[in-house]
Amino acid sequence: MTTDRVNGGHTRFASVVLDVDSTLSSTEGIEWLAARRGAEVSRRVTEATQEAMHGEIALQDVYAKRLDLIRPTHRDIEMLGREYIETVLPGARDALSAIRGAGVRIVIVSGGLREAIIPLTRSLNVPDSDLHAVSLSFTEAGDYAGFDIRSPLTRNGGKPAVVRSLHLPRPILAIGDGITDAELKTDLPAAADAFAAFTGVAARDPVIRVSDYVLRCFDQLPTVVLS
Ligand SMILES: [Mg+2]
Repeated sequence: MTTDRVNGGHTRFASVVLDVDSTLSSTEGIEWLAARRGAEVSRRVTEATQEAMHGEIALQDVYAKRLDLIRPTHRDIEMLGREYIETVLPGARDALSAIRGAGVRIVIVSGGLREAIIPLTRSLNVPDSDLHAVSLSFTEAGDYAGFDIRSPLTRNGGKPAVVRSLHLPRPILAIGDGITDAELKTDLPAAADAFAAFTGVAARDPVIRVSDYVLRCFDQLPTVVLS
């Protein structure tokens, strides 16, 4: 029956593309790391993040700047990994199980830090190959040594580029809280067939305005995807 649904399109959406920060988890990874560096770093990073999320400045201009301000160590990333798991949204695990059980393909696409997100996605039974995020590198001592500057996910338009390259079964529903998630539907040709604004953590008007659905919690997800 599951196979039937994979091939037969018995669900409204065949694939779901999910964001992580302020969507699967209430944590904003970069801001959480910045808070560990004190008030001044935190203020400068938050300012840059907000401007990028509202589409006021380009993502590529703030990505390197924020990480250079924070310089997260391997230890910081391990702690953030635990934080993501502790702050997973209520109902997310059950919702993902339900749609996966109906044969829906689940892919995680995040502009966040891959090494910190892996423990969360593993706990949600998402294989590492279905997590697309930005990798960090560290020195042997575990100090920050940079990020994957080739990753399209550090730039505006990066999520659509990644999703197009995956050739996921369609129709595709994209879910997230930010403008980079909305781009999955608004950047043409659209990488996703529909966009759901997730407002359970943060509600942003420019994101809601371009959405096909508004999800306040994960309990609502199976209904949207399956019926
Ligand atoms: Mg987000």
